[in-house]
Amino acid sequence: MRPTLRCLNSLGLAADRSRTIGFIGLGQMGWNMSANLLSKQFAEPTPPGQGRSCYIVCDANVERAASFVERFKNVAPGVSVEVAENPGKLAQASRVIVTMLPSSPQVKQVYGGASGIIPALRTLHKDDAESTICIDATTLDINVAKEVANDVKSTLAEMVDAPVSGGVTGAEAGTLSFLVGGTPEAFERASKFIVHMGQRVIHCGSFGSGLAAKICNNMVLGVEQIVVAEAMLLGKNLGLDPQVLAQVINSSTGGCWASSVNNPVPGSLPGKSPPSERDYEGGFQTALMLKDMGLAIDSGTSTETPLPLGQAAQHIYKDVVTRHAELATKDFSSVYRYLERAAADKRPVPTG
Ligand code: NAD
Repeated sequence: MRPTLRCLNSLGLAADRSRTIGFIGLGQMGWNMSANLLSKQFAEPTPPGQGRSCYIVCDANVERAASFVERFKNVAPGVSVEVAENPGKLAQASRVIVTMLPSSPQVKQVYGGASGIIPALRTLHKDDAESTICIDATTLDINVAKEVANDVKSTLAEMVDAPVSGGVTGAEAGTLSFLVGGTPEAFERASKFIVHMGQRVIHCGSFGSGLAAKICNNMVLGVEQIVVAEAMLLGKNLGLDPQVLAQVINSSTGGCWASSVNNPVPGSLPGKSPPSERDYEGGFQTALMLKDMGLAIDSGTSTETPLPLGQAAQHIYKDVVTRHAELATKDFSSVYRYLERAAADKRPVPTG
């Protein structure tokens, strides 16, 4: 008989692996997604006679993981919420593993590193490995994701790519769109957990298709955010009130998420609180948008697809983070501030 897998806790409580979920990467998105998954998956108390449920988190920032446990340890009665020392320990104890990491290098390390998920999956009993599903919600390079997924599959576990759209507010409200790639069976299995974190779960095709869709969408978003910033600055310089201009754009053909939800000009959206209202804090980092533009351009090169606007946007975001290091970690709508400064300094911005 195989040994009972124990939840990694200080109390030494025996936990049922089939009822345990692990979440790695508690950043701006992951913290909120994980909170929703925990509270909704375990909304119903565990029926009597069933093994104990456990929810395990892990982050390179150990304090952040400990804060998550402190904040949410009582959110699901009867569920033990714990921190794992590393991704491997988390994988040993969890049938469902969700990852939400910055990009390709972190995904490679968390899955394939010495204390990573894949080496841990290899040590499992066949039944436990087969019952494991990995859901990676990171936006990363498609080829890296495919290599990782092949290694996961070689352990008999399943994997889907499930990048998200909807930003930090969507992660908090549980209204994200998940763009999922994988076999129909893996999609079916993953969806049961994804629904607790999002409103729409779209099966885009085989593994990697979720990322392909996400990369295309973010190229649109990256370009739109720049052009909205340009238009808002042009309007201001033509003497328009930003609130009036935002109202016009948002009720006309130019309206888009970048203008109606993420407007880069403070005060332009009364009653709403985009990152521009908070000195561009708490949104989607410019450095991450630059990463996504790079993923789009690389995909364009490998598929011989001309991407003139995508390329121009990539140059602009690169210039934003190179000239103003402090904007790299702020929301990408801070490109507005970059344009303002370029105008004040009478400096041209790159066009491609
Ligand atoms: P973030 O930088 O806020 O969070 C990443 C988290 O991963 C951090 O807590 C970090 O400590 C942790 N981490 C990094 N390396 C690790 C490792 N080796 N092991 C364990 N933990 C590690 O990023 P985010 O804004 O939450 O974005 C996450 C992903 O979601 C990115 O791929 C991003 O492109 C995508 N995304 C972000 C948004 C957004 O609005 N922020 C929207 C859609 C998609």
